[in-house]
Amino acid sequence: MEMFGQNVYNLSVMRERLPKNVFKNLKNTIEEGLPLDPSIADVVATSMKEWAIERGATHFTHWFQPMTGITAEKHDSFISPADNGVLMEFSGKELIKGEPDASSFPSGGLRATFEARGYTAWDCTSPAFLREEADVITLVIPTAFCSYTGEALDKKTPLLRSMEALSKQAVRILRLFGNTEATRVTSTVGAEQEYFLVDKSFYLERPDLMLAGRTLFGAMSSKGQELEDHYFGSIKERVLSYMKEVNEELWKLGVTAKTQHNEVAPGQFEIAPIFENTNIATDHNQMVMDVLKRVALRHDLVCLLHEKPFAGVNGSGKHNNWSMSSNDGQNLLEPGHTPHENAQFLTFLMATIKAVDTYAGLLRCSCANAGNDHRLGANEAPPAIISMFLGEQLADILDQIVAGGAKSSTKSGLMKIGVTTLPALPKDTTDRNRTSPFAFTGNKFEFRMLGSSFSISGPNIIINTIIAETLKQFADKLEKSKNFDADLQKLLQETAKKHQRVVFNGNNYSDEWVKEAKKRGLPNIPNTPEALKELVSKEAVEVFVAHGVFNEKELHARYDIMVEQYVKALNIEALTMLDMAKQSIVPAAMEFATEVATSYNAVAAVSGKLDVSAQKELLGELCDKLASMNGNVKALEKALDAALKIEDVEKQAASFREKVFAKMLDLRADGDALEKIIAAKYWPLPTYREMLFIL
Ligand code: ADP
Ligand code: MG
Repeated sequence: MEMFGQNVYNLSVMRERLPKNVFKNLKNTIEEGLPLDPSIADVVATSMKEWAIERGATHFTHWFQPMTGITAEKHDSFISPADNGVLMEFSGKELIKGEPDASSFPSGGLRATFEARGYTAWDCTSPAFLREEADVITLVIPTAFCSYTGEALDKKTPLLRSMEALSKQAVRILRLFGNTEATRVTSTVGAEQEYFLVDKSFYLERPDLMLAGRTLFGAMSSKGQELEDHYFGSIKERVLSYMKEVNEELWKLGVTAKTQHNEVAPGQFEIAPIFENTNIATDHNQMVMDVLKRVALRHDLVCLLHEKPFAGVNGSGKHNNWSMSSNDGQNLLEPGHTPHENAQFLTFLMATIKAVDTYAGLLRCSCANAGNDHRLGANEAPPAIISMFLGEQLADILDQIVAGGAKSSTKSGLMKIGVTTLPALPKDTTDRNRTSPFAFTGNKFEFRMLGSSFSISGPNIIINTIIAETLKQFADKLEKSKNFDADLQKLLQETAKKHQRVVFNGNNYSDEWVKEAKKRGLPNIPNTPEALKELVSKEAVEVFVAHGVFNEKELHARYDIMVEQYVKALNIEALTMLDMAKQSIVPAAMEFATEVATSYNAVAAVSGKLDVSAQKELLGELCDKLASMNGNVKALEKALDAALKIEDVEKQAASFREKVFAKMLDLRADGDALEKIIAAKYWPLPTYREMLFIL
């Protein structure tokens, strides 16, 4: 309890340290979303500085989230020259605004590199904190990042905009149900984070892990995850002591690290916090990823956040648990005991269903990157088709609404376990569905398509915005209504009829679903270059502009950045593969082939009667595979060359996906086949067995 939040300049620290009126003023901004009063900045800055210096801080930094998907920071010390030495200073101006030279961050053409100005602006709604790394303590101030002309260059600004949009429309709906208390609705998120750990010594011997974050070669070990003995298995000591340190670091930072367990793949784990408002949850997820990586190094481990570090075992995702809560204390997705009576719940539910169906392409797009292409639709994560799981009870209510009005809710009883000494467990109204991309889990939705390396900002910007839009459509209609109950009933029925197609309670991994989804007209977008196009579709531009989340320029900039990031990721992978093939695998195979040839000659020289067919056969196989690898190296080089010459970045991305990626698969097949026949002592890379099973 003492440790929790000890490095956070939070409300209770503020209450203790700030003058009463300043505290009240700031709290209003933080909790009610009222505009920030700039006149309090100097007082807050001084208090923050004193608090930080008492704890040993020497520097402060504006911490922001550029379009790279990770965070950025530049440290300034508090020192300022004085008559006899220095003073420790930190002004309100320095708290509120920073100006990093931002020319080297992706801007998608929003700013030419010669126009270097970018500004960071204090986000007082996410608390400042101290980062302790080695013996350096830094005051970290969460900020938004924008260009000289005010365009968002980051992942925080649009997220805050989308939260405001959602709040505005959700409050309109609450008013329609007679709620006069609530003034704000916040979206809430709990992000479950998956990751792999590998021993650092292996990592350092794998150029692919170091540069691409995933293994580009590597034959599967004889054992994988098929025994299902790792999932929820007892956690090994080395990993537990790592997790202990991760938790302590996070607790000090006020992150509610709660659940930890072994995941499905060997070497794979998960950490989950307790949910918070989306802005803070997003900052905290960045901190979780950062702490996971930093602490790993102290244990001679490396934490891999790539979506698919190892072929043949599960990849890593992130489950984004999402709901809305109003500041009068309601979870708006809480059904209550008899959901058919809870018209307000049904209205928010139906708005969500409509949004997910209407903007399925955008949701798919929000989870697209080169890494996640190895998961979505590849029989482990949810497929690339967006559908929703509601569970028996709600699906039944939906059917009733379609048929003309919900009259009953299926009752949940007691689960009989069949052992009298065990307690009777109250039965949930519905079982779980682990294959659904967008699953209702009791009082929240769980969006399961995100990749493990993602900033959760993008997907939540989209969820908030599209639901703001459907709520707006509902409010526009219902505010004009003369007979609210009848008109609401009609609206829910119409919406249910039209959008029920997105609801699917079956197995999302099955081939039948792919066919069925096609029949229902649901989009099935196979890869990143295709998915990203959704971001700039006519419907997308309209909805983002209407709610002030992105202007058209910002949206196109983001599109360009993401396409470019895809191309760069594949380019790095292709180049790394070529290096590994030419510098390690081919030479190792040749050395071994020479040894086999030497054996053949030596044995045959002893006596012509000795059988040297094994040597001959193996040599033949080695030479075949080597020749094939040589050919595929050339083919990949050619495909890469051709792709790099394409100027239109959209066409270039398609060429990387269709041509370069295909050649990479061929080259990998050669490498993995060679690994299987080369003597272990000649193989130049740590194997899957070593990397996955040492922990
Ligand atoms: P499970 O997925 O097994 O049901 P939990 O109920 O603990 O496990 O939920 C998983 C995640 O969902 C946790 O991070 C939890 O804090 C989060 N969560 C729970 N309620 C909400 C909510 N109302 N809004 C957003 N996230 C939530
Ligand atoms: Mg989950």
